[in-house]
Amino acid sequence: MGAGPAALCIASELIQQGLEVSALASHSPKEPWPNTYGIWAEELESLGMASLLGHRWENTVSYFGHGKDEEGAIPTSHNFDYGLFDQAAFQKALLDRCENLDWAIETAKNIVFVDKITEVLCTSGNKYRARIVIDASGHRSPFIKRPYQGKVAQQAAYGVVARFSAPPVNSNQFVLMDFRSNHLTEQELKEPPSFLYAMDFGQDLFFVEETSLACYPPVSWDTLKNRLMARLSSRGIAIKEVSHEEYCLFPMNLPLPYRNQPLLAFGGSASMVHPASGYMVGALLRRAPELAKKLSECMSIEPALDSEKLAQKGWNVLWTTELVQRHRLYQFGLKRLMSFDEALLRSFFATFFRLPKDDWSRFLANTLPFHKLIFVMLRLFAISPLKVKLGMIGIVIL
Ligand SMILES: Cc1cc2nc3c(=O)[nH]c(=O)nc-3n(C[C@H](O)[C@H](O)[C@H](O)COP(=O)(O)OP(=O)(O)OC[C@H]3O[C@@H](n4cnc5c(N)ncnc54)[C@H](O)[C@@H]3O)c2cc1C
Repeated sequence: MGAGPAALCIASELIQQGLEVSALASHSPKEPWPNTYGIWAEELESLGMASLLGHRWENTVSYFGHGKDEEGAIPTSHNFDYGLFDQAAFQKALLDRCENLDWAIETAKNIVFVDKITEVLCTSGNKYRARIVIDASGHRSPFIKRPYQGKVAQQAAYGVVARFSAPPVNSNQFVLMDFRSNHLTEQELKEPPSFLYAMDFGQDLFFVEETSLACYPPVSWDTLKNRLMARLSSRGIAIKEVSHEEYCLFPMNLPLPYRNQPLLAFGGSASMVHPASGYMVGALLRRAPELAKKLSECMSIEPALDSEKLAQKGWNVLWTTELVQRHRLYQFGLKRLMSFDEALLRSFFATFFRLPKDDWSRFLANTLPFHKLIFVMLRLFAISPLKVKLGMIGIVIL
C-alpha cells in the first residue's frame, strides 16, 4: 500500500523473490514524488547505486560558530561526499524492478482481518484481499497501531530552489548545517533554533532551506521563512527568481509500532525515519531485501501461515531487538538535544563532527552495531566540552 520510496523498495524486493504482489496507492506510481531525497554518497556506493545521484558534492561543510566573531566564519569541513537522488531515475529504477506489478489506484479506508487473510476496503467501495498487506502509506497511516508516548516532535523546514543576487553558498558547495545566527535578535535566539541547509545546483541555481531540529510544537513555516529571509538579507543577498518552494514537516520520534499487529508496515508508517538525522531512504534500500526474503521463506515453508503470523515474522525482521535498542538510544539522544539551547546545540554539533569520520557517518546512517553505538556515544561524551557534557547527563540526573 503506497507509491512512495518505501512502497517501491519493498514491492520490488518482493517481486525479486518471486512472490505474487499487487499494489494499491492513492495516485499513480509514475507521478513524481513531491520530495527530493538527499543521502551521504557512501551509503549509496555501498549498495552499488551511486549512479542514481543527480548531484554530488565533494565540498561539504557546516558552520557551528556564532558568526559575530572570526570563528563563526570558519567552516567545519566534512570531507565526505553528499548527494541528491536524481528523483526520476531513482523512481524509474525501482519501478523497472517491479515489472508486471498490478497497480490499483485506490485510497484505502479500512483494513480488516477475515478468514486468516487481510481485506483492504477502499473509498471507491472496492475490496482487495491478500495473505499479507504491507502498509507503506507514510507516517500518517491511521492503520498502524503504536503506543502513545507523548507529543510527537517534528522536523520542519522551508526552502526554495532559486536564483539569487549573489551566491548564498560557495561554488560547488554543500552546506549541511549553517548555524550562524548573527541575524537573529536576542529574543529569537531564545526560541527553538534553526539552521540553513543549502547547496549549489550549478547554472546559477541554489537550494536554501531553513530547517529546525525535532520540536514540539513544530517551528512554523512562517517563522522559518522569515528567518531564511533575514539570514539572506543580513548577507546582502536577495532572491531574484524562485523555481520551486519546499514545505517540509515530518515526525522524528514517532513511537515504534506494536510488533504483534496483523498488519505489517514499511517506511514512514513503520517509524523507520532515523530519529537523530531524519533520513530514511538508505535504510529502506538496506532493509527491504531482508524483509522480502523472510516473507518469501515463510510463505514457502509454511503455506498455511495467516496474515497475523506472517506479519509477526515480518515485524521480527524489521524491528529486531538490536534495531529496537539502537532506536531507543537514538530517541534518548534526540530528547536530550531537544532540550539544548542554540549555543549548546552549536557546541554539540561542532564536537559531534570531530568524531572519526567512520563513527559520525555510521551513526547518522544507523549502521553501527549496538555495542559500537554505545562506544561512539561515550566517545562523544568524553570529547565534549563541560557544558555539553552537563546537557547530555541532564536526563540521568532527573
Ligand atoms: C519534505 C521532506 C523531505 C525529506 N527529505 C529526506 C531526505 O533528504 N532524505 C531522506 O532519507 N529522507 C527524507 N525525508 C524523510 C522520508 O524519507 C520521507 O518522508 C519519505 O517520503 C517517506 O517515504 P514513505 O514511502 O514511507 O512515505 P511517503 O513518501 O509519504 O509515501 C506514502 C505513499 O502512500 C500513499 N498513500 C497514503 N495514504 C494512502 C491510502 N490511504 N491508500 C493508498 N495509498 C495511500 C501516498 O499516496 C504515497 O504514495 C523527507 C521527508 C519530507 C517530508
